[in-house]
Amino acid sequence: EAAAALTSVEHWICDALVAPDAALESTLKTNTEHSIPAIDVAPNEGKLLYMLAKMNNAKRILEVGTLGGYSAIWFAKALPEDGKLITLEINPERAQIAATNISNAGFASKVEIKLGPALSTLERMGAESTEPFDMIFIDADKDNNPGYFKWALKLSRKGTVIVVDNVVRYGKVIDKNNVESPVMGVRKLFEMLKVEKRVGTYVPCGESRSMMWDETERKLVFHRPQFVW
Ligand code: SAM
Repeated sequence: EAAAALTSVEHWICDALVAPDAALESTLKTNTEHSIPAIDVAPNEGKLLYMLAKMNNAKRILEVGTLGGYSAIWFAKALPEDGKLITLEINPERAQIAATNISNAGFASKVEIKLGPALSTLERMGAESTEPFDMIFIDADKDNNPGYFKWALKLSRKGTVIVVDNVVRYGKVIDKNNVESPVMGVRKLFEMLKVEKRVGTYVPCGESRSMMWDETERKLVFHRPQFVW
């Protein structure tokens, strides 16, 4: 689990367009104090999730992978008063810290954290004939993406927005020799999407960018040189 540091340009975009939010900032601070890895979505990605939820008038949102509750708080901000986010997390310490962060942000009544391996939780939710969700965010162990996508389809309705994070894997998806399990999980997901006629897809390839202006070095640099091949 490694954090992708924001580039100078991403910082500039966030400073310009993502208004500071005390609850979100204090969540990141609390997470760092508890040594939770900084693998939350970036502020501009949180804003995108927020906007997608708003655009789809989402009242029910499902998230797979809570971590410390950073993206959960973005979703809760987008939900109406009677809206609900169900978020799934396997790690009890992370779930506990997320619950505190979400409560401190004033969203305890809108958010339910379900603790346990997400595939089992989804199986239970399926058996309980849970009402379909308006938006689903998949951001947990990438190996299980095919299973999460299968469940996302079962728990969807026509018009549900499904977002899957980190699907470019820095371009490793096209390296035929790469058999890392997250890469394999993402490849399998693409195979499913290729034949899934009910779902329209869009994949921004930002992760695989090679060069970017660096304000500190004041030149174009390879930001993730280890992944450029
Ligand atoms: N969505 C979060 C955010 O942006 O604030 C980040 C989620 S983090 C990338 C992935 C989380 O998924 C981790 O907290 C990890 O413990 C959790 N996770 C990993 N495997 C899981 C599983 N099988 N079931 C449920 N959660 C899992």
